[in-house]
Amino acid sequence: MDGVTVIDHPLVQHKLTLMRSKTRSTKDFRELLNEIGMLICYEITRELPTEMVEVETPLAKTMQPRIEGKKLVFAPILRAGMAFLEGMLNLIPSARVAFIGLYRDHETLESIEYYFKAPEDVADRLVIVMDPMLATGNSAVAAIDKLKGRGVTNLRFMCLLAAPEGIKHLRAAHPDVHIWTDAIDSHLNSVGYIVPGLGDAGDRMFGTK
Ligand code: URA
Repeated sequence: MDGVTVIDHPLVQHKLTLMRSKTRSTKDFRELLNEIGMLICYEITRELPTEMVEVETPLAKTMQPRIEGKKLVFAPILRAGMAFLEGMLNLIPSARVAFIGLYRDHETLESIEYYFKAPEDVADRLVIVMDPMLATGNSAVAAIDKLKGRGVTNLRFMCLLAAPEGIKHLRAAHPDVHIWTDAIDSHLNSVGYIVPGLGDAGDRMFGTK
């Protein structure tokens, strides 16, 4: 599918299958999401530009690659997007973080913003927006609208699971934003949940239901 990368690595797929099970404990669910976050981060940063820099080993001076440009920004959509953050910061500890607080109005399924905090120079950086579930796409579109409103031009979106409806919405609203996901599921149900999906990611992470 144009603009979408499905990460079909067996480790990722195996962990995702474990997470889908309704009997998986809150602790295991959160740990798996954290681990998968690292694996997606590895894939999403695969094509980052590098520059050659000089380094002196114990044996010789040599030119070697280093990631070019300003540090990345990880932008979790609260609250479920937080699940990816720890693992991703373990991989890229120098990344900056932008928090985007959105909640879903359960009647209209619209996204309502309640919090936004980003680095001042966010516009100069690559921003990776993260949310485990790309369902209607409303939150992803609202988060990216907000970041673009702050001048950000270089954006990527990562999720664990996507619905075809969410992909269509996000690609239509922001065709410049590539999507990384671990799977594209069948459809959304009448209340906006991904089927077969894994239920409410936030509730399953934090044990709130
Ligand atoms: N958000 C979730 O947590 N799960 C879904 O299936 C859809 C949106």
